[in-house]
Amino acid sequence: MALVETVRGAVDNTTLGTTLMHEHVFVLNEEVRTNYPAGWDEDDRVDDAITKLNALAARGCQTILDPTVLGLGRDIHRISRVADGTELNIIVATGLYTYNDIPHYFRYRLPHPGRLDPMAELFVADLTTGIAGTAIRAAFLKCAIDEPGLTPGVERVLRAVAQAHRETGAPVTVHTHPHSGTGRDVLRVLREEQADLTKVVLGHSGDSTDLDYLSELADAGCILGMDRFGLDLITRFEDRVATVAALCARGYADRMVLSHDASCYIDWFPPEAVPVFAPRWHFEHLFDDVLPALRERSVTDDQIEAMLVRNPRRYFEG
Ligand SMILES: [Zn+2]
Repeated sequence: MALVETVRGAVDNTTLGTTLMHEHVFVLNEEVRTNYPAGWDEDDRVDDAITKLNALAARGCQTILDPTVLGLGRDIHRISRVADGTELNIIVATGLYTYNDIPHYFRYRLPHPGRLDPMAELFVADLTTGIAGTAIRAAFLKCAIDEPGLTPGVERVLRAVAQAHRETGAPVTVHTHPHSGTGRDVLRVLREEQADLTKVVLGHSGDSTDLDYLSELADAGCILGMDRFGLDLITRFEDRVATVAALCARGYADRMVLSHDASCYIDWFPPEAVPVFAPRWHFEHLFDDVLPALRERSVTDDQIEAMLVRNPRRYFEG
């Protein structure tokens, strides 16, 4: 057993239960929101999030990991209000989300040889002391690499995340863009940084149907995030399901986790657009549609338990 920090405090990792490894409570541009607050009601949004997470808990989910970090509008006070209204465990992250450049704040706070990157020092403080003056600690690290690839900004964040991982042992989740093979770039850098690859989720791997690419990453020890169920515009539902089933048949059930990358509220799209372009992009799609479809394709209950319970538990094992 190991202790895992949640928003309400540390819990034993054996009690995490069914865990969705990549869901957001809120994804916001806080600078836009605070300057153009029309349409945002804080209490309504918190209540709405609690309702949606309680509905998820009623389906048997006990824990979500929320990889909302700088660049996605992390606000630990708002998350804390939500956590107080639900039985669900919410595990929060530290890190930085960019596909290109780093914020100017970090540009002139440079890494010095032999010392942690100042960015990594902030990540370590979130993991060991608490976020934004609270006692709420992050329990994992998050960064991103997308179509532009390993830009200088993306590489600096990835290396800072690896440093904080080495310093604290906290596991890592990386947003990847499998269609341009960026999982391989992540592997190369994390190997150079001597990261423990068994503690790394390569997020959005499930956007790919390339079994050779996915097997290669899993063989390196990484966990494949089959974590965008409901985003059928990127990859069709049938293809997502068939890929997970094929990897289970190849013996990779212990290297995959399942999730939606959905949000209680995301400001990237006009709210009325989401149900139109992604009608099944919500927290219950897995229980309504994905698990039955996997079972139809001969995925066993034991394999589902590996992906939803045992692999998340192992992610947080010392
Ligand atoms: Zn995400």
